[in-house]
Amino acid sequence: MHQRNTPEGQTDRPVIKNRAAQLRTAIQSRFNKLDTRKRVMAGGLAVAALAAVVATTAQSGSSSAGTEDTAAVVSYTDRAGSPERADRSAREAAAAEAAAKKAKEAAEKKAEAARKAEAAKKAEAAKKAAAAKQAAAAKKAAAAKAAAAKKAAAAKAAAAKRKANSWVFPMASFSVTSCYEYRTDPYPQYHKGIDFANVAGYPIRAAKSGTVIAAGDAGDGYGNKVVISHGNSTWTLYGHASRLAVRVGQHVQTGQTISYEGSTGDSTGPHLHFEVWRGSQWNQINPAGFLRSHGVNVRSC
Ligand SMILES: [Zn+2]
Repeated sequence: MHQRNTPEGQTDRPVIKNRAAQLRTAIQSRFNKLDTRKRVMAGGLAVAALAAVVATTAQSGSSSAGTEDTAAVVSYTDRAGSPERADRSAREAAAAEAAAKKAKEAAEKKAEAARKAEAAKKAEAAKKAAAAKQAAAAKKAAAAKAAAAKKAAAAKAAAAKRKANSWVFPMASFSVTSCYEYRTDPYPQYHKGIDFANVAGYPIRAAKSGTVIAAGDAGDGYGNKVVISHGNSTWTLYGHASRLAVRVGQHVQTGQTISYEGSTGDSTGPHLHFEVWRGSQWNQINPAGFLRSHGVNVRSC
């Protein structure tokens, strides 16, 4: 103050003013690079800088320059905030930071929930897919089982049909005593049938299902005979029975008992004389070949 009117004081003023401006610019520049909290601290530093400038101005004796610089720094300090405002700013900043943190946590929580929901959705989809796969497999297995059952039923039906169409020996148990052949005993003749023998009275059965067209002793040498028509121009004859079990016109099943073994007619002992006719009645063919072609093998003929 005592230098206010001295030439040195007059000379020093622009220098001080310039230094204050430089200082302000430097502080402003650094201040702009700081974050909110540091800006509050910088406000305090600016106040200290103001005090320093004021002291310098006082030392150099330029009170008007000091006033100007003080005004500049105060104006700058006001922008940064008074201690009260700084405190408020700090609280606001802390609140903002807390809010940001809270928002971030909420977002993370939301993302986690979304991830969990997505995982649950995926698990559910996988479960559904597995169930569908299992159902498809079960369906396939059921279809296969049904197909197998159908096939088995068809096979059974075919077997039954084969059996119905098949031929059997005219006796369940026997020995062959004569084949379809020329022979001299008991007298020269062409033996046009096969002789099957068992004990007297043994059951004689239909070699195939059909209709009885003859049953009885016609005095033709066959004794008690049965003739069955099988259709398709095929007949079978059973001779020399002791007694009969069927009558003319009766339908018989394959293997059904039609008579019992005996020795009636031109016979030297109990046996069954069996003939097969093809094409027309009394057209005898070799029964062995015929039966063999129908799955019945008379091994000894
Ligand atoms: Zn015979």
